[in-house]
Amino acid sequence: MILRQHFFNGSIATAFLLFGIYPNSLPAADRPASPTAAPTPSKIFTKADYQRHIEELKKRLPNDGFSIVIQPPFVVIGDEPAETVKRRSQQTVKWAVDHLKREYFSDDPTEIIDIWLFQDANSYEEHTATLYGKKPTTPYGFYASSHNALYMNIATGGGTLVHEIVHPFMASNFPACPSWLNEGLASLYEQSAERDGRIIGQTNWRLRGLQSAIRKGSVPPFETLCQTTTREFYDKDKGTNYSQARYLCYFLQERDLLQKFYRTFRKNVATDPSGIESLKSVLGKRDLDEFKQQWEAEVLKLRFD
Ligand SMILES: [Zn+2]
Repeated sequence: MILRQHFFNGSIATAFLLFGIYPNSLPAADRPASPTAAPTPSKIFTKADYQRHIEELKKRLPNDGFSIVIQPPFVVIGDEPAETVKRRSQQTVKWAVDHLKREYFSDDPTEIIDIWLFQDANSYEEHTATLYGKKPTTPYGFYASSHNALYMNIATGGGTLVHEIVHPFMASNFPACPSWLNEGLASLYEQSAERDGRIIGQTNWRLRGLQSAIRKGSVPPFETLCQTTTREFYDKDKGTNYSQARYLCYFLQERDLLQKFYRTFRKNVATDPSGIESLKSVLGKRDLDEFKQQWEAEVLKLRFD
């Protein structure tokens, strides 16, 4: 993670937290909970719950180089210097949790979730294999809902960490959320910053491929994206599922419609499981093909250097 000072629109100085810009992909076994899973009531964990959790965790630490920080609703475990693990817990995990909760999520995940921050690729690969039982299929990091754990190679930056933090919150707050919005929102915050006290996603590495697909005319209609099943979203992606979903979220964010869309869709999901009707209503459009032309023209103007 890189911490920089920026000046926003030449007005008030705003501290921007810029995270990594690295791609992430989700191994097949580690997808967020099925959209049909029933919501489990949220539980408040006490200090004693965290203490018990940590005692168990200590027995599983791979070596003495790991330190543990309680950062509710997470526990952060890392093998960088203890000060660094603490700093990441506050500057990335707490920052992201506070801002995401303010924006979308009222309920914490239903279990205490471990965030493993491995200092480099070797540590990540070796220890994920031991703790999770499998070698990771992505070099960046992933959320394993079955283990209530995020495994991250933190040397690749904090962007993927913020992405993965979205998934357990989505599972506890919007269990029927389809993969397209789950990944669209998570990937929006891979490159995140603060604007007027709110978390925003900025343009990132996913833009280039999307712009090239738009130029080729190969981006599917929004109806198609929104109706993809979990399997279709992950396994039959022709290359633009994540980026189309991300830049739809980005478009909504820039008009201050993203939070409204999330809430409208969540409220109406029983009758509108794909989100198409909620999207039309929030955009004030009857025709998503016409909207797609406007969206494509705007996406082509975006820049990421
Ligand atoms: Zn994801």
